[in-house]
Amino acid sequence: MALRFFNTYSRKLENFAPRDPGSRNVSIYTCGPTVYSRAHIGNFRAYIFEDLLQRHLELRGYKVHRVMNITDVDDKTIRGACDAKVSLSKFTEPFKQAFFEDIKTLRIKRADEFPAATDQRYIDRMIEMIGVLIARGLGYQAEDKSVYFRINKFPNYGKLAHFDLTQLQSTGRVKHDEYDKEHIGDFALWKAWDEEDGDVGWESPWGRGRPGWHIECSAMATALLGDRIDIHCGGVDNIFPHHEAEIAQSEGVTGKQFVRMWLHCAHLLVDGQKMSKSLGNFYTIPDVLTKGYTGREIRYALMRVHYRVPLNFTWEGMKEARESLGRIDDWLQRLREIAGDELDKSKIDNHFGHEFGDALDDDLNISAALGFLFETIRETNRAMDRNKLDAATAAGWLNWWNRINEVLDFESGTRHFWFRPLEVTRSFDSSDALPEEVSKLAEERMQARLAKDFRKSDELRDQLNALGWEARDTKDGQKITRRVGV
Ligand SMILES: [Zn+2]
Repeated sequence: MALRFFNTYSRKLENFAPRDPGSRNVSIYTCGPTVYSRAHIGNFRAYIFEDLLQRHLELRGYKVHRVMNITDVDDKTIRGACDAKVSLSKFTEPFKQAFFEDIKTLRIKRADEFPAATDQRYIDRMIEMIGVLIARGLGYQAEDKSVYFRINKFPNYGKLAHFDLTQLQSTGRVKHDEYDKEHIGDFALWKAWDEEDGDVGWESPWGRGRPGWHIECSAMATALLGDRIDIHCGGVDNIFPHHEAEIAQSEGVTGKQFVRMWLHCAHLLVDGQKMSKSLGNFYTIPDVLTKGYTGREIRYALMRVHYRVPLNFTWEGMKEARESLGRIDDWLQRLREIAGDELDKSKIDNHFGHEFGDALDDDLNISAALGFLFETIRETNRAMDRNKLDAATAAGWLNWWNRINEVLDFESGTRHFWFRPLEVTRSFDSSDALPEEVSKLAEERMQARLAKDFRKSDELRDQLNALGWEARDTKDGQKITRRVGV
């Protein structure tokens, strides 16, 4: 099946091909966090979807160049800095760092670039673009000294959101200066400085001020990825006005189609409701970690539902994520025991499990892809129960897993410790020490088995279990395993 995605612009599934025919290079721009507070799990649902997109494209042999911006100047960041009585950069820095920590916890691949809106390079680019828009009649400075985009002059305005401009009405949230605009839908390209901005501001041909949020993305996207971008992503709440405005500004300047495909991720709900601080169902990544869950469990829970379907986050769902990952862990362990040395010999065999990639080709149908994975686990487990799975087949499935795990990144940090009659303890990862108590019990158990004292050996197994360690007897000796979450 051809690789295809649902393009918000056309509201259709379209086959994907990079803008340069024959090229394997794909450029992706994703709207990043506004660093005025710690991002919440709803934000991370979108970042996980973008991670899945990038990794699947890479699995299909594309070379992805991804840019994710950091919005570090807007109304919220300025208000935050003002309330905290610190400079804007001092206020936003901890939230930037927290964001990078969280994406690491969730195993989200880092973008190639994380441009920040306050970087002078991009401020210059924003000013340059606004100048071009004014020269073309697409922008104007109003009496309040702010510069606005004239939406009536851009015929395609509203196309992405499938929005009728005549329906644009005052939302009641307009500031007093909104009355200076020619059309209620005209959005700010450059906001004139006012007292609330404190010391935040840049000089421009239109006076001191700061960029509007939308122009930040147009400037950073075109500066780093060029006039035409293959894929632009974000959450559905970004479609209007943010992405609509990005199109108008970018195309208004370059005269070229800004983005080939727009992909948007649906909302995240918590217990069936919109997440909000007042409902007490607002969670950050550390909030979920504090409940005892791990980064990979959160990753699983946020990834498992198709990106265009609203995802309902529940604690029950977190438990299911843990169980599902446990099944994968157990399956891999069984396969590895059967595969043994065969794993080193076997070559990648593409006959194994092409259904997984096929499902992702179909607009990233992760539910179908995971359905296939768990069906495979069921079937191969059944075969292993009956001793009907040979080493070469086990190795084949392991190779397949290694390939799909490049996309999923679900593998645990499982550590194994071997207890063998000759080699007392060998650990795969010497940086991990086996707790002394566990080591002593495992050693005793090995001796008990050598003495064929199976009753004692079973008792010791129970004691190990109680400490959170699993003892398995394999043809290579006793293997002690503990699952660590990340
Ligand atoms: Zn953006």
